[in-house]
Amino acid sequence: MLDSLSQRLSKIVKVMRGQARLTEENTRDMLREIRLALLEADVALPVVREVLARIKEKAMGEEVIGNLNPGQALVGVVQRELTAIMGGDLSRDEREINLRVQPPAVILLAGLQGAGKTTTAGKLAKHLIETQKKKVLTVSCDIYRPAAIEQLKTVTAQAGAEWYPSHTGEKPLDIAAGAVDYARRHFFDVLIVDTAGRLAIDEAMMTEVADLHKFLSPAETLFVIDAMLGQDAVNTAKSFHERLPLTGVILTKTDGDSRGGAALSVRHVTGKPIKFVGSGEKLDGFDAFDPEAMASRIIGMGDIVGLVKDVQKSINVAEAEKLAQKLKSGKSFDLTDFRAQLAQMGGMGSFSSLMEKLPAQFQQAAGQVNDEQVQKQLRRTMGIIDAMTPAERRKPDLIKASRKKRIAMGAGVPVQEVNRLLKQFDQTQDMMKRMQRGGLSKMMRALGG
Ligand code: GDP
Repeated sequence: MLDSLSQRLSKIVKVMRGQARLTEENTRDMLREIRLALLEADVALPVVREVLARIKEKAMGEEVIGNLNPGQALVGVVQRELTAIMGGDLSRDEREINLRVQPPAVILLAGLQGAGKTTTAGKLAKHLIETQKKKVLTVSCDIYRPAAIEQLKTVTAQAGAEWYPSHTGEKPLDIAAGAVDYARRHFFDVLIVDTAGRLAIDEAMMTEVADLHKFLSPAETLFVIDAMLGQDAVNTAKSFHERLPLTGVILTKTDGDSRGGAALSVRHVTGKPIKFVGSGEKLDGFDAFDPEAMASRIIGMGDIVGLVKDVQKSINVAEAEKLAQKLKSGKSFDLTDFRAQLAQMGGMGSFSSLMEKLPAQFQQAAGQVNDEQVQKQLRRTMGIIDAMTPAERRKPDLIKASRKKRIAMGAGVPVQEVNRLLKQFDQTQDMMKRMQRGGLSKMMRALGG
């Protein structure tokens, strides 16, 4: 998401960086460009006005004037103001889920149908289990769609939480009462309550969720919103904010093709922090919202911090250490190790979502990365290694023409692919040897880093 906004802003940033002096004229130009970029990104008008007023005030202030490089300073101002608008002044604690209540801490999820509430319930449960070791119960009060109840059951199992059964014949308040009672008696730390949504704001739905809120007095009332909604996000957020004392927002589908306005607008409209962002349908696509990283991404510097975290999350530390130990002990890197590395890459999840966190300059390339193709290629390559004998994996030099033919047949690929794999392996092995000899710093030099 955020493509067009970051592309536009990074263009402005580039122009401003090149300016030796800040004049009234180029400041005005820049503000106009930022205004257009924000409007184009579907940021609500009142938010655009506020952002611009703040940037203007700071830009005219001492922070920029008198600075040796006003263009650069201005970029800093824009980044800080975007961060502030998205809740940068809040502490990490304020953005986490509040569990400082008598357990079970009830978390009520509200939002339109299709916003991603049920998926979010699963993601949130997994998050609380994995990061805080909480005992989590989920329940669905969506008595209109049996499929929604089933879906919650499925994601709850995937998250490793417990699901409290509910049925379409029951009343939402009765279901909620039953779940709270069950959670108390079985010492659950958290109860996540999924509610029914409608396709649009609807009085009956609002009353139902407001009644649930009154009955449950939740520790958190989270508004779940689809980042792709853009302008509409504002109106929806407003309606929910007016009827429910929200405590925070979860922005979903940030992997989608959105223009990024929602992140900026929703916080402004509700006055509540965006606590988490969801991306993708799988349960691990769930991260704490980081306003600073988001602001950097918006102005095209790329979410390097986010990228590093993703890679850390997906690399199997135990495997990596095993390999490091092996190399340290002077043993050589063989095809079995190479296969393990490939398998790790395959586990890294969506390549395009990793690429998306890179600065705007690189994102064009990201658009061309096809996850499915990358995964398919990885599986093919691993298939070739699987077709080898253990001796061949240990000593790839053994693999001459006739063995190559046999392996290719076994893996169902042309011989050229076996050749390509062996070449790739050679290069990797070479790098590993250098690492063994000279450590990381030498390798970085070898890579031109
Ligand atoms: P609910 O009606 O609010 O409970 O929404 P669901 O959780 O059923 O989600 C609606 C659809 O959006 C489902 O097909 C989900 O798989 C999908 N979905 C949910 N969250 C995300 C996300 O972060 N990214 C993407 N791409 N799809 C999502």
